[in-house]
Amino acid sequence: VGRVVVVGAGLAGLRTAEELRRAGFDGELTLIGAEPHLPYDRPPLSKEVVRGEQDDVTLKPAEFFEEQRIDLRLGVAATGVDTGARAVTLADGSTVDYDHLVVATGLVPRRIPGLAELGGVHVLRSFEDAMTLRSELAPDRTALIVGAGFIGCELAASMRARGMNVILIEPQPTPLASVLGERIGGLVARLHREEGVDLRTGVGLTALLGEGRVTGAVLSDGTEVAADLVVIGIGSVPVTELLDGSGVQVAEPRAGGGVLADECGRTSDPNVWAVGDVAAWRHADGHRRVEHWTNAGDQAKALALALIGADAPAGPGQVPYFWSDQYNVKIQALGEPSATDTVHLIRDDGRKFLAYYERDGILVAVVGGGLAGAVMKTRAKIASGVPITEVLEAAGV
Ligand code: FAD
Repeated sequence: VGRVVVVGAGLAGLRTAEELRRAGFDGELTLIGAEPHLPYDRPPLSKEVVRGEQDDVTLKPAEFFEEQRIDLRLGVAATGVDTGARAVTLADGSTVDYDHLVVATGLVPRRIPGLAELGGVHVLRSFEDAMTLRSELAPDRTALIVGAGFIGCELAASMRARGMNVILIEPQPTPLASVLGERIGGLVARLHREEGVDLRTGVGLTALLGEGRVTGAVLSDGTEVAADLVVIGIGSVPVTELLDGSGVQVAEPRAGGGVLADECGRTSDPNVWAVGDVAAWRHADGHRRVEHWTNAGDQAKALALALIGADAPAGPGQVPYFWSDQYNVKIQALGEPSATDTVHLIRDDGRKFLAYYERDGILVAVVGGGLAGAVMKTRAKIASGVPITEVLEAAGV
């Protein structure tokens, strides 16, 4: 294969480099990262890091990259790709030639257009974002969190743990409605209210108030709230600018954006690949991006084997998995739950719940709160797509 260049030194970029070596790739391997940090882990940012309980989120020490002969170039962004010359341009003006290029550039937080630029307004994606936000967390301060997705919900929990007042607003009828549906979203709403969060659903942000620094906000229902700080957690957009003009196909923003790729990560250019949050891989139901930690590793494995021309292992593929920690509840999902699935709630006793997701009569996902064992036990059933009647019967429902 010669030389592989991976752009984006986050989880997916790191895992791709690791998996290439594990699969026996012996050629030159370059990993380019815009951030000055060694590849690091993002899940703790909204949890332990903002709460001040953890500072080091590094995934691998510097020696790892030497041992694995990975030429790590940090603090320099890739700015363009010439697919004809097979070269990547970097922000310092240099170019790096490749035989295969892997795009692993992740996401950046979505902004609200037209919102006043004020101090005390935060987003959360990077380590710096987390450290800046952490410096604002103090007991009795009031935070307005805009958006009750995973980041908003986890931050609400972290801020309550720091003794703060939290107002969490969400235009949908419940938190996490677009990922888990309103039934389970309702349980998540109950959890946050029990923990003292002022959760307001069906409400968005209209304007921020303050001069220089934020002092509050006007909400879409006309109410005004006072806040010492604001976090905007309304989703993220894929980082694909470096492919502008390269000819590599990118999905429409309306369709979620991202670099279009087949089921092994190969893009419209046979020498360019995409992996992780930025990648819209082909699934049975079309191209789709997945913004979860485990997916980055699963995709890296499949991509590395395809890139070196090895066969994928026989048997069923990985069952997708993600989790979210809110208060003392670990929410876990196996399979691919969708907001349009029929949800069978088979257990709900306060902070422990278990739900089976049904699509066309088949069990497609299981979502649990505080019930790791019960969730994990369903892995084989989800992989083989058993009829929902079978699992409901087995559960005594
Ligand atoms: P990233 O981790 O974003 O890495 C991309 C990297 O590419 C970045 O370092 C970026 O600086 C770099 N880059 C971008 N453009 C360029 C360029 N032009 N040149 C060079 N480098 C570039 N998932 C879960 O399943 N459970 C959780 O509890 C969970 N918690 C999370 C909490 C937070 C706060 C966040 C932000 C994410 C969380 N996730 C969670 C999601 C998980 O972290 C992501 O799925 C994972 O980080 C994706 O890895 P990635 O490498 O695709 O993207």
